[in-house]
Amino acid sequence: MARVNRRNFLHLGMAASAAALAPRWVLSQASQTAAPADRVAQMRAAGASTPVKTTKLYDNIWLLQGAGGNMAVQTGKDGNILIDSSFATAVPHIREAISSVSSDAPHALINTHWHVDHVDGNEGMHAAGFKVIAHSKTKTRMSEPAEMKLFHMSLPAYPAGALPSATFDDSMHHEHNGDSIELVHYDPAHTDTDIYIHFHNANVLHCGDIFFNKTYPFIDEGSDGSIGGTISAAQKSLALADDNTKIIPGHGPLGNKADLKKYIDMLSAVRDQVAALKKTGASEQEVLAKKPTADLDADWAHGGSPDMFVGIVYRTS
Ligand SMILES: [Zn+2]
Repeated sequence: MARVNRRNFLHLGMAASAAALAPRWVLSQASQTAAPADRVAQMRAAGASTPVKTTKLYDNIWLLQGAGGNMAVQTGKDGNILIDSSFATAVPHIREAISSVSSDAPHALINTHWHVDHVDGNEGMHAAGFKVIAHSKTKTRMSEPAEMKLFHMSLPAYPAGALPSATFDDSMHHEHNGDSIELVHYDPAHTDTDIYIHFHNANVLHCGDIFFNKTYPFIDEGSDGSIGGTISAAQKSLALADDNTKIIPGHGPLGNKADLKKYIDMLSAVRDQVAALKKTGASEQEVLAKKPTADLDADWAHGGSPDMFVGIVYRTS
């Protein structure tokens, strides 16, 4: 598959099916009826108008929630570490949120993966003094024009100032602000760029988009994502958690071990049901018609259609 086709923004509510399935906080960012060219502009407009809320998770760690994916900041005399950067237009709100909890210097911005709702603010945060750290493939994907074939939508490559200046393939370790911080690459899951960030002493784990808390996920087939990979990544995360671990999902409310376990059970149930139908020779359309998630939709579909998720499960399993 051509590299350019691997980049996609489906999870941002850019199609009717995606929008129907997307959690409300994502849905609000882009109308499903907008012309494709306007969709990124709409999301950025949401970034401009949505304040970033801070929630204290530990003495020096806060969850930051605004228009894009969930962010976090660790503060202290070694300098502040930010995880993810939402939309470019959210940068003033992110800076304001950080200032409201810390007067320490900027240090590093870590991207959980390459998607626009997690990296679009990189250039602005870099200009504010943060060095950008990410998986090597995040840098690769951000360095190229992004095109979502399905939605006739494209974004140019990010400028040099937005790109990670420090990258890794497997893992990276930081002793910082009194904590031991592990950055570890998942095998391809939501994308092939996903990492987790684990603050050992604080017992806080940011999973990025391998975990959508309380909603069906988007899995980016165009970036080598798959249902099996997502389940494996979620299980790997679960193994790091105890009953007190605060688990930050890429989207949705702050989670814990029980939430992540429920999520894995849901993913596994859908995978198994779709696999059973697929085994009988059913086409994707036939599987969709059988509504294999009917029992789960009340809890996970938020009133929308689960078809996008079922289709992804069908195609990637
Ligand atoms: Zn994502």
